[in-house]
Amino acid sequence: MYKTNRQLFFEHLAPTSQFPLAIEIERAEGVYMFSPHGKSYIDFISGIGVSNVGHCHPKVVEAINAQSQKYMHLMVYGEYIQAPQVQLAQWFAEHLPKSLNTTYLTNSGTEAIEGAMKLAKRATGRSKIISCKNAYHGSTQGALSIIGNETFKQNFRPLLPDCYQINYNNFSDILSIDNTVAAVFIETVQGEAGYIEPFENYLFELQKQCNKVGALLVCDEIQCGAGRTGKLWAFEHYNIVPDILCLAKGIGGGMPIGAFIASHNLMNYFTIQPILGHLTTFGGHPVSAAAALACMNVLVQNNLIEDVLFKGEFIKKMMVHKAIKSIRGKGLMLAIEFENFDLNKQIIDGCIANGVITDWFLFCDNAMRIAPPLTITIEEIEKACSIILKSIDEVVTQRRN
Ligand code: PMP
Repeated sequence: MYKTNRQLFFEHLAPTSQFPLAIEIERAEGVYMFSPHGKSYIDFISGIGVSNVGHCHPKVVEAINAQSQKYMHLMVYGEYIQAPQVQLAQWFAEHLPKSLNTTYLTNSGTEAIEGAMKLAKRATGRSKIISCKNAYHGSTQGALSIIGNETFKQNFRPLLPDCYQINYNNFSDILSIDNTVAAVFIETVQGEAGYIEPFENYLFELQKQCNKVGALLVCDEIQCGAGRTGKLWAFEHYNIVPDILCLAKGIGGGMPIGAFIASHNLMNYFTIQPILGHLTTFGGHPVSAAAALACMNVLVQNNLIEDVLFKGEFIKKMMVHKAIKSIRGKGLMLAIEFENFDLNKQIIDGCIANGVITDWFLFCDNAMRIAPPLTITIEEIEKACSIILKSIDEVVTQRRN
């Protein structure tokens, strides 16, 4: 019996929610996604911070085609010299401070975090890891141990011991970081907390304390990196250089890839006691690495990052409505705050019905996520913002009646 993809989705694909969006997309290009029934959507969240160069960017597609015709998997990570991997690693080294010159490639964000946690423990000989309340670092058990939300952790215990959360942006909490700490993991701009920027000097003071006690500072730029905040790397805004930088999502141009980047000296710890201290079969898959290199080149060569702050400000100026309590964030990483979840959810549903994809945050359900592809034009922003404003009006009117 013939079944629709919708039926198969509900019957055979493992769910993560009882209320999935269940939007069916046949094709995506630039900021647009198209359903099989001819409906078009503006992707105003980039598939959660991934499609920074838009969907199916021709340069990324070209790189994928070219590499998949040469070779795909050859050997587990770290043994063979594969051009896409080494050229991507070189690109990162050329676009980062000197100390961040060595890249370990993974398949995902959470794996970048896992690798960085292991590296910090191995390099310092310490086990304690500090992270922040409301931080999101991934869903595997190491990353889960350092996320800052009890609801997501409680039914998976025991998790890793020696993991503690401090309050983001709290200067006095910094002083609890002592010489038993291996590393502090921090999102340079918090993501799932609802796009929270660090206070002035907060990250600087945090780094100072880490340096003082010999703890490593790990910046998670899995969501806020790759140009999203208006600089290539978010830490560039805040006068710090992390010891380890974690990347994923937006670097891959739509392909799965992650990375943690550190100095050669630090990374060398994985080669001894034990040898093969961190392994992956598929990490840095050549097709993903080729796509990532093309994506990073598009970001920089097309000057996409230069306009990010302007576009962010443009959205802020457009999004004026009595129902909006505040709008915060950095660059094209914005959160629109409403009174409560119910109102936010109703407006989000309205936006989607009217053709703009948005959502709320894992740990902040009264704010709407705005994170479009960095390639978005002013005309497309105007169109999306008008649809959002119209959707707010519709919901507010409907609630009044
Ligand atoms: N860190 C941050 C800041 C993230 O936003 C995410 C994903 N939302 C992750 C880590 C985990 O990445 P992945 O889903 O690729 O494992």
